[in-house]
Formats: sequence, structure tokens, C-alpha cells
Amino acid sequence: MSDYVLVINAGSSSLKYSLVDAGSGEALAEGLIERIGESEGHQQHRGPDGETESSDALATHEDALRAALDAFAKHGPSLDDLELAAVGHRVVHGGAKFAVPSLIDDALVAEVTDLVPLAPLHNPANLEGIEVARRLFPDLPQVAVFDTAFHQTLPPHAYTYAVPSEWLDDHGIRRYGFHGTSHSFVSEQAAHRLGRDLADLNLIVLHLGNGCSAAAVQGGESVETSMGMTPLEGLVMGTRSGDLDPAVHGHLVREAGWSVDEIDNALNKKSGLKGLAGENDFRALAKLRAAGDPKAELAFDVYCHRIKKYVGAYYAVLGTVDAIVFTAGVGQHSADVRAAVLHGLERLGIRLDPVRNADPAEDGLVSTDDSEVAVLVIPTNEEWQIARQALELVTKEETAS
Ligand code: ADP
Repeated sequence: MSDYVLVINAGSSSLKYSLVDAGSGEALAEGLIERIGESEGHQQHRGPDGETESSDALATHEDALRAALDAFAKHGPSLDDLELAAVGHRVVHGGAKFAVPSLIDDALVAEVTDLVPLAPLHNPANLEGIEVARRLFPDLPQVAVFDTAFHQTLPPHAYTYAVPSEWLDDHGIRRYGFHGTSHSFVSEQAAHRLGRDLADLNLIVLHLGNGCSAAAVQGGESVETSMGMTPLEGLVMGTRSGDLDPAVHGHLVREAGWSVDEIDNALNKKSGLKGLAGENDFRALAKLRAAGDPKAELAFDVYCHRIKKYVGAYYAVLGTVDAIVFTAGVGQHSADVRAAVLHGLERLGIRLDPVRNADPAEDGLVSTDDSEVAVLVIPTNEEWQIARQALELVTKEETAS
């Protein structure tokens, strides 16, 4: 069996794919298809020939995946020559059912369909990607890798909301957590970089991308995380509010006459940095801030203050912390955010080195040599983690049969 896995991340109107060598992590080709179902689509494919683009209309996800396969055939690498080992799918919500990556069959599709009410924005698109890939690759094993799975180790006191207890049984209302693939990947990388065994480490992982979440990771297991039943809870994000007094919903319904959908939409798409400063992209926000825009300044402060609160909370949850890890677009690239979040925490043994922080070296260490808590900047690689987990499962199944 080869080590090549085609990783698929299907969104409501997009399809992202990556052909990954699960052994080395190398992406031999990557592509993004957007505006599926619109009169003009957009397709990008990067492979051995460099980058190609087209704007053909693609009516369905099946058309999109066929267009991706055409791009492989035209621009390489040839999927026939490589012999894929598996297709790995990112699935956002696995509920309490899926704690590990799982082989896709009809029963799994039915179970993920049952979880749609918990993730109405994400799971239907992920299912669409699965169905299409099963039709186009009927002979290949397909594996679902869940964003929630890594957090299934949360203890009951961390995942239980203090609401009537029957809400859990009747409606599945509890914390599930997301970004698990990224949190698990960077935790493993952190252990590797520190030259320590992951089983011996307490980590606080901060995934700061368009979506943002924090996780407390003890001995390689997630014990607390900031996203909740949905990816709306926790940190301030590009367009999502994060934590909010739950009474705000009722207030807006009663006082402003808003519908539940309007409130959901505003909290998911018009809040966060965008709601506060008009920009959800952190680089654009940084430009506004540099130009002295007071709303951008406040948005930055609210964003960093929220992260700092979680660092403090997770420090207390863990008792001792070996490393704080920053990852994803903002975590990796914004020295200002890292400095603001960790400012004044020297009494907790956290000392950022301003020179290292300004331009992190290859090892990602941005704390001082005498800092008791290491601070690391580590790029995430969710595609590689999905490919690795898919290959591992397929190899295990093959050995067992
Ligand atoms: P996603 O969650 O969609 O995978 P990313 O991890 O790519 O997102 O993060 C996207 C965010 O990272 C955007 O807000 C973007 O502006 C920010 N970002 C990317 N590069 C930089 C940079 N050099 N400095 C500050 N922010 C950056």
C-alpha cells in the first residue's frame, strides 16, 4: 500500500483537497474550488506544473470533485500512477459517538446525518463530500476524521453545562469542542520540539485562525477546550462572538423582535473582529490599528484579553504548564498578539523573548531560556494529521483482515 491519501474538506459552497504523503507530510498537490452552485466558479490547483486557475461554473459538489480529478489528470500528479491508499474526510461534528477516526460506510453516514442538528452549518456539506467521493472512488477505503474527536477525553465536569440534566439526553447539549485535529497535531509537534514525551507534558494550545479555540492538553489528552456544543463559544474570532451572556438571545427576541435565525447569523457571521472593527481578516485589522483606528484598537484588546483569560483559566485547570503553543494564521504570524496575551504573566513562569517573538526561528521557541513555561510557535497541518490518521486506520484494518 502507498502512503498517499487524498484529503477532502467539503464546505457548503467549496471543496478543498490535498494529496498528502502521509509519511512525510508533503502535499504533492492542493486545490480549492469555490462558488459551487453559482453562475461562475473558481478553481485553483497547485501541483508539479505550478498553479493553474479556472472559472468554470460547477453546479454541484460532484462536478467540483470531477473538476479536481480533471486537474490531477491534466496537471498531475497522476492519481492512477500514485495508487491512493485512502480518502480522508474532515468532518466537523462527531458528537459523543466518534472519539477516533472511523471507516466510512452506510452506518457512519447515517450517524453523521443524525448529528446534523448539532452542526447544521457544517455536517451537511461534509456529508456531501463523503457521498461524492464514495461515488467517484468506490474501491478506495474512506475515513472520517472528526474535529470533535480529540476532545472526547474531556471529563464530565468540563463538558457538562449547568442546565437541566435532561437537555443532554434529549438534545445532546454539552461541550464537544472543535479544531481537534489541529490541537492534536501541534501537541505532538510540541513534544517533538521539546524533546519530551507527550505523555509527560501539560500544554495550553491556542489555535488562532479565522476560527479560534484554546485547549488544555494533559499527557496528550484534551481536558478542557473553549469551543462548546458548536464552534461559536469561547475566544473572539474573525466573525464569531465567542463567549456571550446567554440572556442576550432572549433580550434581542423580546426587545428588538429579532428571529432566532437573525441572531444566529449575527453571532456567527457579523460579530467578532468584524463586528467590532469592520474587518475579520487579522492583517486588515492590523493595518487599521497601525493607522490609529480606535475601533480596531478596541477589537485587538478584546481579542487578546479573552485569550489571556483562557490562558489563566487553563493554567489553573492544569496546575502546572510545560508549554504554551500558538498556531494557525494569527497565532503563527502575529507577534503583537502573542506579546499582548502573555504580557505580565512572569509570576506564572511565562517569559516571552521579544527578539525571538518578533521573528520566530525554525524551532519555534519564543520564550527566554529561563522561562519555566516554554512558548512555542508551531504551524498546524490539519491535512497531514488527517492523512496520517486515515492511513493508520486503513493499515490496521488491512492487517486485521
Ligand atoms: P483558517 O482558520 O481558515 O484555517 P488561518 O489559519 O489561515 O485560517 O488564519 C487566517 C487568519 O490569519 C486571518 O485572519 C489572517 O489575516 C491571519 N494571518 C495570516 N497571515 C498573517 C500575518 N502575517 N499576520 C497577521 N495575521 C495573519
